[in-house]
Amino acid sequence: MCMKKDNEILKLSGLKSTPTRLSVLEVFSQYCKPINAEYILDILGKDKTDTVTVYRTLNMFEKKKIIHQVDLRKDSVYYEFSNHHHHHHIVCTKCGYIERFDDCRISEMSKELLSKKSKFNIIQSHSFELFGLCNKCNK
Ligand SMILES: [Zn+2]
Ligand SMILES: [Zn+2]
Ligand SMILES: [Zn+2]
Repeated sequence: MCMKKDNEILKLSGLKSTPTRLSVLEVFSQYCKPINAEYILDILGKDKTDTVTVYRTLNMFEKKKIIHQVDLRKDSVYYEFSNHHHHHHIVCTKCGYIERFDDCRISEMSKELLSKKSKFNIIQSHSFELFGLCNKCNK
């Protein structure tokens, strides 16, 4: 899943490697699902780091495009590792269960869109999540 070593990613992004940055990166490369700051704090342990440092690290990683936000329509911000293979999610609005899907046709769609009359000539990124009820919740 992880294409580059964690400390290499930091180096390429011009970031010094600190214990917190390395462990946050490790969490992202291991968990192939959207996670929030609270989740990361739980895993790292509040004795090893603190809330402010984790939030600061997440903001910095996002700026450097190491991670990106996933809109799950929840109160807190969820992120995913940008190194993971490009994919999207289906989210159960009742229990929160998340399923991933890799079949993305949005790049084709945006090419088509740009070839038509549009005030845009470049698409840099996109987000796309589906919301519904899983089998268990729709009984
Ligand atoms: Zn995902
Ligand atoms: Zn459900
Ligand atoms: Zn896509």
